[in-house]
Amino acid sequence: MISYSEAFALIEKEFAELNIGTEITPLELAVNRTIAEDIAADVNLPSFDNSAVDGVAIKFSEKIASWKIVGEISAGNFKEYSLRENEAVRIMTGARIPESCDAVIPLEDYDVEGTISRLKSGVKIKRRMNIRPKASDISKGEIAVSKNTFLNARNIAALAACGRTEVKVLKKLKCAVLATGDELVPVNAKPEGDKIRASNHFGLTAAVESVFQTGINYGFVNDNYVEVKEKIEETLNSEADLIITTGGVSVGKYDFVKEIFANLGVEEIFWRAYIKPGKPAYFGKLQKSGKKKLVFGLAGNPVSCMVNFDVYIKPNIVRKYGMPSLNRIEAELLNDVRKHDGKRHFVRGTVSKNNEKYFVSSQISQSSGNLARFSQSNCLIELDEDARNPRKGDNVKCILI
Ligand code: AMP
Ligand code: MG
Repeated sequence: MISYSEAFALIEKEFAELNIGTEITPLELAVNRTIAEDIAADVNLPSFDNSAVDGVAIKFSEKIASWKIVGEISAGNFKEYSLRENEAVRIMTGARIPESCDAVIPLEDYDVEGTISRLKSGVKIKRRMNIRPKASDISKGEIAVSKNTFLNARNIAALAACGRTEVKVLKKLKCAVLATGDELVPVNAKPEGDKIRASNHFGLTAAVESVFQTGINYGFVNDNYVEVKEKIEETLNSEADLIITTGGVSVGKYDFVKEIFANLGVEEIFWRAYIKPGKPAYFGKLQKSGKKKLVFGLAGNPVSCMVNFDVYIKPNIVRKYGMPSLNRIEAELLNDVRKHDGKRHFVRGTVSKNNEKYFVSSQISQSSGNLARFSQSNCLIELDEDARNPRKGDNVKCILI
């Protein structure tokens, strides 16, 4: 059986070769999208010398400490003044500076008597003080936001300043999510006897949306070969770039999802990797009319499939879309952890911070079925293949989730 790293490398390779395509989006909808073009400033920013403060603009001279106020310029209401050395204009932050001025004294540094402004004692002034020069932010033609940036609010503001009302972005991945299992009943039904509510497709669709992609919820089907096949075929014929199924990929009698994938032309890349939870995960691809679809058949255990998403799929989406990388930290274990096999373990934990140091507890149930407890955890403790029974006080790697 392949290791987690080998499995991850195989997925990574397919993601790298996945052709996503681009689309145009209005600026209002561009936050948390990945820009697919370099954006250069179409004007100098700022496009004129302007005042950094509210105060008086003067023609600088070392010998002069009081000025007659002869006018006023507010932001957006420029008027040219030809000042003499003992004259000043009141000026507001962001207002354009007249040619004749070469310093701005802030309000708090002078007193005003009638029309005379007088420097307070002890205040030093310098030529060019409080002037933001033209193009000091960025010059016309310079790149303000570069291609492949995952756009945050600051980038959106910069794009607006560069005159963009729409931008080219990477298309979102469309991810079809389908759950399978005979035990499943809809969320709005009360599970009777040996039935359980189908939760996986909701969790995974949300996981897809939380990395800013499009989740398409195909609901669930019971373990009937024909029905499962029809539904999987529907996802494979859809626009989806990724197909994620849960359940039916293990070695049970009714685990025929793999067989269905094969019958529908999906090429298996791996089945089962040496990790916990989620050992039975399947990964394959389908090449269809020049377009590639990645196919993940994840275990039905609710925790396994969510953890598999976090450790197999999410890091690849993050990389592909240039998102800020996963939050990884080191933390001190607050309890002993049992691990006596050579699998890569992703243990559910709760991280807390105390005096700039992280601590992590794994004293929540580790059963792959315990979803409610899992929803209260906030990290995965990553234990490498060669780690054995780490003890309270040991430092461990954690992925914040
Ligand atoms: P399987 O991988 O099909 O053998 O399922 C493993 C376990 O996960 C079983 O205990 C199932 O009851 C549970 N399970 C399977 N599918 C789902 C689902 N969609 N939602 C919640 N639990 C599920
Ligand atoms: Mg099953």
